[in-house]
Amino acid sequence: MHQSFNKERHPDTFSPSTSNRDTHSNREQSPAGWLALTGLRLKQIVQAAPNQLKKFSDDAALLSRALSHLIVILLVALTIGLSDIEWSWGHISVLRPPKPTFTDVAATPAATQSEAPFTLPTQLDRTRNDIILPAAVPHTIIPERARAEIITYQVETGDTVSSIAAKFGLSPETIVWANSDLERNPDLLGVGQEVVVLPVNGVYHQAGGGDTVESIAATYQVEPAAIINYVLNQIDPDEPVIQPGQWLVVPGGSKPYIPRAVTVYAGPMPQGAETGSGVFGWPATGAIFQDYWSGHPALDIADRLGAPVVAADSGYVVAAGWDGTGYGYKVVLDHGNGYQTLYAHLQAYYVEAGNNVAKGQQIGEMGSSGNSTGPHTHFEIRQGTIQRNPFGFLP
Ligand SMILES: [Zn+2]
Repeated sequence: MHQSFNKERHPDTFSPSTSNRDTHSNREQSPAGWLALTGLRLKQIVQAAPNQLKKFSDDAALLSRALSHLIVILLVALTIGLSDIEWSWGHISVLRPPKPTFTDVAATPAATQSEAPFTLPTQLDRTRNDIILPAAVPHTIIPERARAEIITYQVETGDTVSSIAAKFGLSPETIVWANSDLERNPDLLGVGQEVVVLPVNGVYHQAGGGDTVESIAATYQVEPAAIINYVLNQIDPDEPVIQPGQWLVVPGGSKPYIPRAVTVYAGPMPQGAETGSGVFGWPATGAIFQDYWSGHPALDIADRLGAPVVAADSGYVVAAGWDGTGYGYKVVLDHGNGYQTLYAHLQAYYVEAGNNVAKGQQIGEMGSSGNSTGPHTHFEIRQGTIQRNPFGFLP
């Protein structure tokens, strides 16, 4: 193989020298001979020229006819040229996209009303504040316009309130505020459950007997116009009357965050119960399944089924067993220093009320019991009746 390759290369390496020889022979032509030939030709042309010029000037008529022909040709060329320019300008102006008008539509209330449907004043304001480039606004609005209706979403495996909110570009609060079950406890999320999803961030409110547009607007800190102009509310702007029982979308509305007071579990305090150190450790390893936020005052840590769940600090067990409110199998520890910790959705638990536990001791196995969409440990740190953010305590 190697040899034949070299053989084939051989002829090529020789060919350049052959062509070099040809070039060399061309260069041997005498420069003096070429000059002599050129000189002779120039001489002939110069001698012939006066005769030819004389012929033209003798015939003045021929010259003027030639000139007029030239002018006509120039005029035709000019006309064609000009008409070409006109065509191309016309073409470009047609192709040039019309100036976008949607920004004006969004900004002008009158235009928004004539467009009827989708008045989102509060959202647009927020969008404009969030995104400095006005060019980005249409990209934000168009998908929202596409869904100007309230839908229900069926919860899938692995969903959390946060992940559902992200799916629809909404805040988790908006999901919770439209679903009273979740508002009571966002962990009451089960696969197959239907969740109401608003088209915009805000509050979904069912009017009570004494409610007016003004009172609802005040409650959720928006202008009454935000409620009246929102198309799904179907309120007559000239006579903004609402009926008791009527559901209203309050775009941009919010509810004040009031920490939910939770049950303080109490159980038998064992002899020689150890007081917690006040320094908490992680109850499980894994990924953060759901973060702490106003509606989820806990941390969800996800790993495999059966992964060990350990006591975050020393203390004693005040509750261990089934919880019908959605926690599934749970364990609650009292650390004797004002703190309790709660571990929910367990697959199994190894302790019972009254047991002493040391920090790091395994108290159960990670599971997906109760209302859960996948294996994880729901972990709460409670100080008295308030659920604190575990992130503020964990290393
Ligand atoms: Zn949770």
